[in-house]
Amino acid sequence: MSEMNAASSGHQTASLGNEIVGRIDKLAAISETPEHLARIFLTKEHRAAADLILDWMRSAGMRAHLDAIGNVCGRYEGERPGLPCLMLGSHYDTVRDAGKWDGPLGLITAISCVADLHKRGRRLPFAIEVIGFADEEGVRFASTLLGSRAVAGTFVESVLGTRDAAGISMRDALTQFGLDPHHIGAAARVRSELLAYIELHIEQGPVLEAQNLSVGVVAVIAGATRLAANLTGMAGHAGTVPMRLRRDALAGAAECIVAIEDFCKTDEGGLVGTVGYIHAAPGATNVIPGQVSFTMDIRASTDAHRKLAVADIVRQIEAIAKRRNLSLQLDVTHENRTVPCAPWLRAQVAEAIASEGFRVFELPSGAGHDGMAMIDIADVGMIFVRCRGGVSHHPDEHVELADADAGARVLLRLIENFRPGGAV
Ligand SMILES: [Zn+2]
Repeated sequence: MSEMNAASSGHQTASLGNEIVGRIDKLAAISETPEHLARIFLTKEHRAAADLILDWMRSAGMRAHLDAIGNVCGRYEGERPGLPCLMLGSHYDTVRDAGKWDGPLGLITAISCVADLHKRGRRLPFAIEVIGFADEEGVRFASTLLGSRAVAGTFVESVLGTRDAAGISMRDALTQFGLDPHHIGAAARVRSELLAYIELHIEQGPVLEAQNLSVGVVAVIAGATRLAANLTGMAGHAGTVPMRLRRDALAGAAECIVAIEDFCKTDEGGLVGTVGYIHAAPGATNVIPGQVSFTMDIRASTDAHRKLAVADIVRQIEAIAKRRNLSLQLDVTHENRTVPCAPWLRAQVAEAIASEGFRVFELPSGAGHDGMAMIDIADVGMIFVRCRGGVSHHPDEHVELADADAGARVLLRLIENFRPGGAV
């Protein structure tokens, strides 16, 4: 600590890192069940977490409130009130049996950075807003990015009628939470209010660890296409139907899955493809499977690359189905565009990383983030922090104190040196 010079923005950061990890643990204690972390949109645990985060924001010198969708919003004024803001954030909902870092790390780090400025009485030529998005994971209503879509003004009102597994509509859940579903539009912000949106997040992959780096610059949030395939052949007796007369839908699906893997493996542009779900019917040991459904998730760093790859994979699956005399139904169930991080923000993130003494390394985000919605109203930048083994969406998700600390130092440096629009 004492070795850091006065010009370093990191003079408070050992305490920042400790504070961040302490708060990660406090927030993780707010869960549906103590042994399996779950903080699901519009539940009472979600509300308790929001109240705790609001407290942290206020003690960091921010004005704070819950917006119409349940986002936790804090504002730290700049040199004079009413200036456009640099918006920092992440989400505070979790998946089921989650890790405690995915989402909260970015949110808590941003609050700690503001608290550090506040403690020093430092005001900047712009405001800082910190936002904790209410629903990024989409666990309860199977619709992701609800919080950031509301802020970006792209929330689709028709999802209010969606029901959760218990039959409760989103509309009723919002009311029970103390929010007015008729006023979701009030959460929307406009481009002129925001200078940029920057999110710090755990990597959720093993790349930084392999590079032996604490932090990285995100170049792009990869788009994704999800498809559902249904192969229909003919069920039959496992003992009586000769092999050459079979129309085995599961063997056909197996060939498709291997073809997808081979295709993605030989791609040099970072294409990834996953079959994460399969169901065979009738599903008995002694019956030839007559019908199989499976899903595909295809991601790449550019939309053009992904679309070409999907078209190629579809052609291969069609050919396999035809050769095996299986009927095929293929549907695109979900499509996310690729969101590039703005070059001027990438440059400033890189500069902050270099200033803190780390090697600058760029990587794509294979996982989706709130920036995918925020791009509609602001340029987006992201900082990744290394997580152990690349493990995420799992209780073993872990970030070392030193890496949490490095992330905070970089974010604080970035804030203090921030130049809107990349001005020199
Ligand atoms: Zn996340």
